Amino acid sequence: MLHLPKRIATIGSHSALQILKGAKDEGFETICICEKKKVKPYRMFPVADEIIEVDSFKDFLKIEKELIKRDAIVIPHGSFVEYLGVEKIKKLKVDHYGTKKILDWESDRGKQQKWLTRSKIKMPQIFKKPEEITKPVIVKFHGARGGRGYFLANSPEEFYKKIAQHPCERDYVIQEYVVGVPIYVHYFYSRLNDELEIMGFDKRYESNADSIGRVAAADQITANIQTSYTIVGNIPLVVRESMLPYFIKIGERVVAESQRMESPGLFGPFCLEGIVTQDLILTVFEISARIVAGTNPYTNGSPYTCLRYNEPMSTGRRIARDIKQAIERNQLEKVLG
Ligand code: AMP
Repeated sequence: MLHLPKRIATIGSHSALQILKGAKDEGFETICICEKKKVKPYRMFPVADEIIEVDSFKDFLKIEKELIKRDAIVIPHGSFVEYLGVEKIKKLKVDHYGTKKILDWESDRGKQQKWLTRSKIKMPQIFKKPEEITKPVIVKFHGARGGRGYFLANSPEEFYKKIAQHPCERDYVIQEYVVGVPIYVHYFYSRLNDELEIMGFDKRYESNADSIGRVAAADQITANIQTSYTIVGNIPLVVRESMLPYFIKIGERVVAESQRMESPGLFGPFCLEGIVTQDLILTVFEISARIVAGTNPYTNGSPYTCLRYNEPMSTGRRIARDIKQAIERNQLEKVLG
């Protein structure tokens, strides 16, 4: 017999403000687990009914029993996965929204590639060895926080020259640099009604990639400016309406393939992250199997959720509604994993 959870909890970072606000709007009590040094925003914006302070998010396991006692459901987000790590999350006993099984697929590049390829999603070419570089590539470090340290190269020689500045980095991927506009597609798939929703789109605001165009090419060369991709914020976006059928189709394929891969498959919020090229195809370089920070501009709903709901519906609130509906239908196990 499942107990009825009364509280929604998450760790204070990434999209916590939105998640907690959405949970409150759906009538849940909320808990924010905060690092002492980063607690101020969660006091300034009153979305947490309770704040549990820890010295470090690494102490999360120490407060797990407290969360279980309070009947909490934990909502994972990007920082949650980053701070706890996949293995620790898998061992959590506190209720967890979304399936943990998909974490393996998401964190393993090979598996992610298999998943997307089988979903017939276009991906950038991967160069296994630097010697194979024949076109512009972007070099990404595994676990790099918010794009920090990525660099571009156009040849094996340029790669070796630039990688020498990162002597400690062993784990990286060399990806074809795709020319187009970056687009992050926010989806929500509910197992309860077997429906896929487009929640919104965003583009990232990256330093200095998004400012380098303010400097003339000749000056960029003179000043030896290298492009960097450190994320600073997110910018809301709407796409051409005629592209919506395409974005819906690829989202549906990703969900269907995840169900074939590992029952029960992916559910809740997820995001396809890629570049739309001039032929209007999204080349996907990453999938996030949870809420992304790009949904944060839509705390009060997006231009798309506005069309479906007669109330402000953020992705955080949509998660809380999924949980609430599951409780009402006595199917809570369908949203936990
Ligand atoms: P990521 O950390 O993978 O989300 O990438 C950070 C940023 O790097 C993206 O928002 C894009 O601006 C850029 N980027 C990543 N992969 C590619 C690619 N294959 N081609 C072009 N730009 C990319």
